[in-house]
Formats: sequence, structure tokens, C-alpha cells
Amino acid sequence: MTERENLLNLTVVDAETRVAAAMLELGQPSYRVAQVVRRLWEVPARSFADMTELPAALRAALDERFELPRLELAVEQLSTDGTRKFLFRLADGEAIEAVAIPDGNRVTLCISSQAGCALRCAFCATGAMGFSRNLSAFEIAGQAREMRLLDEPVVVTNIVFMGMGEPLMNWKAVSGALTLLNDPRALGVGARHITISTVGILPGIVALGERPEQFRLAISIHAPTDELRRTLMPINTKYPLSDVIAAAKVFDRRVTFEYVMLGGVNDGIEQARALGQLARECGAFVNLIPLHPGGSQGFVPTAANEISRFARLLRDRGVEVAVRKSRGIDIAAACGQLRVERMGRRSPRPAEQHSDVQVA
Ligand code: SAH
Repeated sequence: MTERENLLNLTVVDAETRVAAAMLELGQPSYRVAQVVRRLWEVPARSFADMTELPAALRAALDERFELPRLELAVEQLSTDGTRKFLFRLADGEAIEAVAIPDGNRVTLCISSQAGCALRCAFCATGAMGFSRNLSAFEIAGQAREMRLLDEPVVVTNIVFMGMGEPLMNWKAVSGALTLLNDPRALGVGARHITISTVGILPGIVALGERPEQFRLAISIHAPTDELRRTLMPINTKYPLSDVIAAAKVFDRRVTFEYVMLGGVNDGIEQARALGQLARECGAFVNLIPLHPGGSQGFVPTAANEISRFARLLRDRGVEVAVRKSRGIDIAAACGQLRVERMGRRSPRPAEQHSDVQVA
């Protein structure tokens, strides 16, 4: 038997072409194509058998030709603040997490782009686990598709690539996933409601900028000097701060700087001034992130009043600042925490390589 093609790892247009060819071959009327396409993402079906609007024989014929895979939900946890964390098992046994964060009328879904991460940022528990593999476009966008398949479906209004992995080191699949997340015939999330978070992978920033849609860019800055940034983020050796800042300046949309507050490390007055300067140069919005407890080794969170003071110093310099709310603390919903909690920091067996989520 020839291998069945995964319809969910294609753009909607390409999937439509494949389905149309199959319908022709099967002698089916053309309106059947739209019926199937609608059930890929918009009103997702669990399987072809689930497409009860189609004749049974046709469902079986489609099932022979095409694959409509799921991400298997292995664990779900609910936080007292309403944050829900989902652990999905992939076909090869890898596991990834997504976190749904309700806030008023919005639900932000934090998704993973890689299993593990190669970057080893000092404060991030994902870094400690190392890199396993890139996710496919389907495995990335599929995290949002699964939200529509829950017993009580979650209506996702915003997407952030702030789970496990570095999205711009998996650009091809991430770019495909962006198309699926944004396409009104797929998941239909507005481009301005989709944020890519990166440590500053320069070719990836250029590629993102070349997309015509208004996808948002957030850059993990975390230190205002190369000297300090190098110690926190090894990637700074390859892509130094000055180059990242230059890329932010020429990016044609407004960028956000993410800055995780590490007590006594990057939260001083001098650093606020230097960060304010950089943010002003780029017209960047600054998001101060309280360090998520438990996910990091050897760092302490900055006290809340000191975060406010730091924010004030930035505002005094004309920079727009928000302090991010930490969410899901009771379910260890920050980067690397679930894995750390369950298996310790040493290399997990691949089948149990839980992903990580940042919902700070
Ligand atoms: N690789 C990308 C996206 C994933 S991490 C990036 O680094 O931007 C999303 C955000 O969570 C990053 O800003 C990251 O630095 C931050 N983060 C990692 N560990 C954290 C922790 N323990 N507490 C708070 N934020 C953390």
C-alpha cells in the first residue's frame, strides 16, 4: 500500500487540490471537496469516519488515501487561575505541551515549535533538556486544532510561540504553521494576534519580516549588554545584541522586548537605563517577565516592588512597558517545569521528553 498523505501538513489550498483530485477519481460531485476541506481545520473532524455528512463508502475511500492525524492528549492539568496545560504525545513518542491562558474575552494559546531546545539559556529549564527534534507544521498548528476537538472546545483568540523551542530555528515548519493558524479556511487567528518569540535568530527575523501578514515579533533580550547577555544566553556569541537591535530597528512592524527579571543579575538601575535606551532606539514595547519559580537553577525572582520600580525607570525614558502576569504557577506551567518536576533535570528517555511551556 502506498503511504497515505497527511492532509494536515499541507496548506489549505494544497490539501484542497489533493482532495479535488481524489473526488474526481472517485467520481464524486465537486461540492464534496469543500465539505472535506471544512473538516480539516475550521470545524475539525476527529477522523474521516467522523465526517458523517459524507456517504460511508466515500469516508472509507478517503481514509485509504489520506491521513488525518491527531496529537494524542496524554495529560491535562487545570490551574486554579483557569490556565490549562496540555501534554500531547506525538507519533514517534515525543511529547510537547501547549498552555491555554484565559484572560477576559481572550484565550491565548502558548505553543511549542520544537521538542526540546538547543539554546541553553541559563534561566530556562527547557535549555537543560537539550534538543530533540523540530516539529512539523502540522504538529505546531495541530496544537491549536486540538483545542477545537476538546469535549468543551476552547476558542483560541491569540497564539504565542512561547512554548518549548526556538521557532526561528525551525522556520520552514513555523512558516507553514503560521499560514494554517492565520488562514480563515484553517484556524483563522488574525496575524496581529499571533506572536513569534525568538532569542534573535537574524535570518529568521528577516524571513518573518518578509511575510506580508502582520505577525508580531517578540525578542528575548534579557540583558542590555553583550557581556551580561552572553552569560545568560549562549546564542549571543553567534547573534550579538547589537546585531539583534539592528534587526529590530529595520523590522517593519513594532517589536516587543521580553525581559525576564533575574534578582540581582539584570534588574539594576543602570540596566534599566541601558534597556530603556535600546527600546527607545527601536521603538520597542517592553514586557517585563517575572521569573517563573521552579523552572530555573541559581536565579531568584526580582521582588514585585522592584519590578515596578524598574518599569517606572523605563517609562520615565518614554518607553511603553507591561509587567507580565505569571500564570499557572500551581501547575508548573513555565518553561521546562513539568519535565523537571516529573523526571529531574537529567536526560529523559525520549518517549517522556515533555515539553515546556512559558506562560509567565
Ligand atoms: N525560544 C524562544 C521562545 C520560547 S521561550 C525565546 O527564547 O524567545 C518564551 C519566553 O520565556 C522567552 O522570553 C524565555 O526567555 C522566557 N523564559 C524562559 N524560562 C523562563 C522562566 N523560568 N521564567 C520566566 N520566563 C522564562
